[in-house]
Amino acid sequence: MSYRLQSIIPVHWSSICTHRCIPSHINSRFLRVWCCGNSYRNQGEMEEVDGSKVCEVVVGDAELLEKKIAAIRTAGPAKLQVIADFDATLTKYWINGHRGQSSHGLLQQGNPEYDVKRHKLYEYYHPLEFSPTIPIEEKAKLMEEWWEKTHALLIEGGLTYDAIKKSVANASIAFREGVVELFEFLEERDIPVLIFSAGLADIIEEVLSQKLHRSFKNIKIVSNRMVFDADGRLVSFKGKTIHVLNKNEHALDMAAPVHDRLGDINGLIDDNASVKKRTSVLLLGDHIGDLGMSDGLNYETRISVGFLNDNIEKSLDSYREAFDVLYLNDGSMWGVVKLVSQLCSSGSD
Ligand SMILES: [Mg+2]
Repeated sequence: MSYRLQSIIPVHWSSICTHRCIPSHINSRFLRVWCCGNSYRNQGEMEEVDGSKVCEVVVGDAELLEKKIAAIRTAGPAKLQVIADFDATLTKYWINGHRGQSSHGLLQQGNPEYDVKRHKLYEYYHPLEFSPTIPIEEKAKLMEEWWEKTHALLIEGGLTYDAIKKSVANASIAFREGVVELFEFLEERDIPVLIFSAGLADIIEEVLSQKLHRSFKNIKIVSNRMVFDADGRLVSFKGKTIHVLNKNEHALDMAAPVHDRLGDINGLIDDNASVKKRTSVLLLGDHIGDLGMSDGLNYETRISVGFLNDNIEKSLDSYREAFDVLYLNDGSMWGVVKLVSQLCSSGSD
């Protein structure tokens, strides 16, 4: 492990925002901190380590964040769960200067005619997804239509599991630095991680397997799940379609431990009922809509961490309002690693 969890020292968020500086004990991976007051932001001191990567952290209400941290620490790790979006949250937004691929977008089904057909659907529906003039109910119907047509093409075009494996191997997709260490830290403490995605569970599992080279017993994927026949050919999808506008309706019944596919039967993951009893939530997302991922849970305390990867100037105010902690410029996961270590620490440390 490149990052020593044992050496983590808690972050004092209020000192970041009040004094507009990076406390000397904070790991230098926090290269630059933007400090925010209630109505404006000030740029804080900067630390530069590897020059090319600038990670910026925004905390809108440090006092509230400190209160939430204290509440989660008091409740203890046994009450904590992590809910994370996948694309552009766990994965990087930019890869080598280009937009990284999404779990949906990376799929090449080994049948060019059908890849073209799916791309045409993308060109038609994607602008509608972001249209400000279409009412939300109508948009949800359009998204469902898009997902179902895409899924039908995957079946009709004869998608195989081998094609998924090849697509992932050739894809431009990578996890943020620190994701492995975050998962390891949580696994060691039996803290469940639910990954919510409107993409495809089978692809996400394959990305986890190929890019992280190991499985995690504490991870569940809540996403669209494929059914393959004995020859490894896609024949159907399980359950209700999860698209961008309904993924928050938490289809927990569709979740399955990632180790099912990988042959690891000694999972530690809680069943859905006990996940619902974990009343402290750490939520990770890159869209304001991702905040709805915890809607079905009866949580007592939620800390939301946002990744604002692009259009920063335009979206900063709304993201800062929405998320407790915000990482800018496609930052790493190290700040979240530090945060969870703080949430799981006890006593006066
Ligand atoms: Mg996302």
